[in-house]
Amino acid sequence: MNRISLLLFVVFLSACATVPEPTGVTFVHLNDTYRVGAVEDGNAGGFSRVVTLVRELQAEGRDVRILHGGDFLYPSLESQLWNGLQIVDAFNFMDAVAPMYAVSGNHEFDRRGPEQLIAAVRASEFDWLGDNYTFNTGAADVDAALQRAFTFEAAGRKVGVFSLTLHPDDGGNERDYLEYNGDYVAVAEETIRKLEAQGVDLIIGVTHLHIWQDVELAQLKADYPKLAFIVGGHEHEPEYSPGSDTQAIVMKGASNARIVWAIDVDFDAAGSPRISERKVVLDRSVAFDPEYEVLADKWRTRLLDKFPFLEARVGTAALPLDSREVTVRNEESNWGNFIVDQMRLAYRDGEADLAFVNGGTLRIDDYIDGDILFEDIGRTFGFSSYLRQTTLTGAEFREVLEAGYRGEGPSKGYFPQISGFRVCIDRGRDSGDRIVSLQVPGGEGWQEISADTEYSVVVPDFLYRGGDGYVIPKDRPATPPGSELKYLVLDAILAAQARGETIGAAVTPENRRFHELREDGERCFNEGP
Ligand SMILES: [Zn+2]
Repeated sequence: MNRISLLLFVVFLSACATVPEPTGVTFVHLNDTYRVGAVEDGNAGGFSRVVTLVRELQAEGRDVRILHGGDFLYPSLESQLWNGLQIVDAFNFMDAVAPMYAVSGNHEFDRRGPEQLIAAVRASEFDWLGDNYTFNTGAADVDAALQRAFTFEAAGRKVGVFSLTLHPDDGGNERDYLEYNGDYVAVAEETIRKLEAQGVDLIIGVTHLHIWQDVELAQLKADYPKLAFIVGGHEHEPEYSPGSDTQAIVMKGASNARIVWAIDVDFDAAGSPRISERKVVLDRSVAFDPEYEVLADKWRTRLLDKFPFLEARVGTAALPLDSREVTVRNEESNWGNFIVDQMRLAYRDGEADLAFVNGGTLRIDDYIDGDILFEDIGRTFGFSSYLRQTTLTGAEFREVLEAGYRGEGPSKGYFPQISGFRVCIDRGRDSGDRIVSLQVPGGEGWQEISADTEYSVVVPDFLYRGGDGYVIPKDRPATPPGSELKYLVLDAILAAQARGETIGAAVTPENRRFHELREDGERCFNEGP
């Protein structure tokens, strides 16, 4: 080697030392995101923090890909104006930082007609994925945009992706512009075979299904060892099912990117992948990305142009009102209590006996503290919610309410916020038989609901029609849908403001409406034997 060559060789070596070679691929997974900005007063989640995380991983030399498990176009305050185009803009920004792949969730199809979906897909620079559904929108370019049996190169290896979304039988939206196949395992298996035929090194699933369906799919690894992991959505708090030789890893993050997953995949010389997954909490310790913040500010300005009164104060909170999703979908919320109390006052013929609303109706995912702004009402109700009043016997009501406490795992959109009664449940018992005690006011305090007495009941029309798995008897007179909940709540806050009153009351051991038995020997409502 002559002197020049030697010099070049040394320069080459030192270049290798300073610019890290891509060592492997890191997948950043998020799901169920509705906000351009962060939540919890800016302290949690948000795409800005996702971008910061992605850039940090890239600086470490990782080839980063962003995966999204669905539910992003709707519902939100902004989507009532822009039909999710604000989120598409944010996704396009992220896609430019690191390639992004998203499966449709049920909320992408909230609109009855295809026009808004067509506009969203046309505006998208990120990839829409789907193997068990087809767009039949009438727009050929949009229908062809959905990626199936999809592969991409990452860190010099070929990655294959299958993706599935909820069939209408499982909570998906039935639409004229969609065709579904609900046999998830069969579609996954067929797709995996196609991907293997294309010579992929790794197979992953991106889904929007119930967690138990993902865990069932994960067993395909026994027959298809290249299947490494499945990342999903629909649930709003983190889910994890560990992997083995016969079981792929299953992961879901927390809604609004409060918690995301970072999944490192490194290939050895023989091409075998080593997987290392970790949850990343995106809290105040993760800075906003200054470039993304320009985009966030743009949408904030547009929103204020449309609703100049958005930051107007309509009332005052007596204490921090907790409407985080982790609260309204799992336990009693003081903001939920105020809202459901208004439902009982919706009709002129006096206060209704009982009312409940599914926690998933309350979309703000935030605390409301100090001033209550018009924006807080707008964000709480991401979609219209009209009420109905009917009559049920105590026995019927108890049976209806059991649906609110069914199933496994935390954080369900169908978990009810309640008024006019208190309930004690035991999740150790079978679904459908978990209510230990359901009490209404009576005598000196509370008494068990009377099985044969008729009670007036107010619920959202969505639940009356069977939404979220509640089966409400239809053989009694019911009011037509009316009295939108958003305006009922706004009216009540403005009226309280005029009287000089504040909003909200603390949930205490003495006044709580919801009690879950967690320990042996624990008594409902902590009462004596
Ligand atoms: Zn969903």
